[in-house]
Amino acid sequence: MDTHLLQEQSERLKRQREATKRTILRDRTFLGQPYCPVCMQPLGNQGELHEVILTRGDVRGCPEEVRLSIHAPINCVIVHPGPCHLKAQHELEGKLACLSQIAFFEGFEPMIYWLNAVEHSARGGSALEKQYFLLRYREEIETYTGLYVLVLKQRELFANSLIPRGGVTHKDGAGQTVRKSC
Ligand SMILES: [Zn+2]
Repeated sequence: MDTHLLQEQSERLKRQREATKRTILRDRTFLGQPYCPVCMQPLGNQGELHEVILTRGDVRGCPEEVRLSIHAPINCVIVHPGPCHLKAQHELEGKLACLSQIAFFEGFEPMIYWLNAVEHSARGGSALEKQYFLLRYREEIETYTGLYVLVLKQRELFANSLIPRGGVTHKDGAGQTVRKSC
């Protein structure tokens, strides 16, 4: 392939990754802040895009649309660099935590549909293998999702308990508004 075409492809890849990063930072937030799925802490100014289900190696030699699709939100999370990124890449617990964030925000079924579509155009074995992996760990992924919701809820309650100044009001048994101090 000539240099010009390769350059165009790498530009498209760069644009896809930037768009995905913006989408995730905008949409996967709690109290306005994007979170790292591995440690559940805010990302702050640092975060690296990580391909979760299919890796670049899995789609080597596939049509460009398939190679680009692994950089879409359905396959990506943003994690802290260093320990979080390593855990996401190499440890089952980290992988499940990342899958759980995708399942929570994008849905479990859409991940399976996407793998089906990719399997069809790629004609490789890796998408099928990853489907088996997702289905095998579905319960864990959804349990992690449950855990995720729980942690977020806990943070919400905690944050709410900090918000009111001068106490919150509620109705007492007689219908009177009562101010309760925090
Ligand atoms: Zn982290």
